[in-house]
Amino acid sequence: MTDLIDSLASGNDLSDDEWRFLLEGDYDRQRLFDRADKVRRQHYGTDVYIRGLIEISSFCKNDCLYCGIRRSNANAERYRLSKEEIYACCAQGYELGFRTFVLQGGEDAYHTTEWVEEVVSAIKEKYPDCAVTLSLGERPQEDYEIWYKAGADRYLLRHETASRPHYEKLHPPQQSYKYRMLCLQNLKQIGYQTGAGFMVGSPFQSTDDLIADMRFLREFQPHMVGIGPFIPHHDTPFAAYPQGTLEQTLTMVALTRLTLPHALIPATTALGTIHPQGREMGLQAGANVVMPNLSPVSVRGQYSLYDNKICAGEEAAEGIALLKSCVTAAGYQVVVSRGDSVRMR
Ligand code: SAH
Repeated sequence: MTDLIDSLASGNDLSDDEWRFLLEGDYDRQRLFDRADKVRRQHYGTDVYIRGLIEISSFCKNDCLYCGIRRSNANAERYRLSKEEIYACCAQGYELGFRTFVLQGGEDAYHTTEWVEEVVSAIKEKYPDCAVTLSLGERPQEDYEIWYKAGADRYLLRHETASRPHYEKLHPPQQSYKYRMLCLQNLKQIGYQTGAGFMVGSPFQSTDDLIADMRFLREFQPHMVGIGPFIPHHDTPFAAYPQGTLEQTLTMVALTRLTLPHALIPATTALGTIHPQGREMGLQAGANVVMPNLSPVSVRGQYSLYDNKICAGEEAAEGIALLKSCVTAAGYQVVVSRGDSVRMR
């Protein structure tokens, strides 16, 4: 087992059987987490980067079977932030020490190329020392290029699963695995710090699917990787499926750190949702980013991707003091910094 962890940490790929053992074998996971933490400290010390997450719209034209804001969910409450509301979130976030703003949303047709371009330009003009990350789903390459020229630095687009048959079980036929992967290639080629990622324990996911995720990460070399447990949402077709486990999610975080030593890996909100110390444990298993919620308090409950999504306390941007003390207690420190990938330096 130690040999396998060493081998992975030295940059080797593993055989299917070796991967299978690390993913589902009976061994001391703490040793894996400790090794991942050691690798993270070699490249990023004990720094934890914070991102202010602004959820700009809960309208979505897509129909992902797992997601609470899917088009078919007639019970979802929909909202969309105005430009002014977004700028107000940034102003508040800047005061709190955020130097990255993440604009995330459903795929909302209201967000035209020009609308997003203007928002990105305005934020970059007002806060030249900040990074802007977009997470607005699949768009034509041209949009990504225009937003990059407007100053967007990073883009998060989780691949969700690297197995095409599995992707097709999580999405309706109109949504294509091939196109999502093409979008990721385009983003990286344009020059974005690019984020991929996947859910752990999503319906129908097999160990082989998770091995495919690890191999995809190794090949694609994203700058960022978002990994969280699947959590059911009561108004989706997957309402009755079990959530992903803490241990399996931490295992995937740790294996990702060993596979991509330089990656920016968030301890995700979903991880914090399934366990009160989930995010701290994520940090101790190789993660080095947290993304507190900077959306206006009035709309926070409506960006409901899954049930019981946390958005108060240390998860909320205004709870930053609490977050800092939790991070410190876990052995790290929150830093005021853009927190770019060391690969960009
Ligand atoms: N529309 C954007 C943002 C999606 S929301 C895009 O397409 O990228 C951000 C992430 O939330 C998704 O990529 C997905 O991995 C995650 N998510 C959605 N529903 C979830 C659920 N039920 N449980 C856990 N994570 C979920």
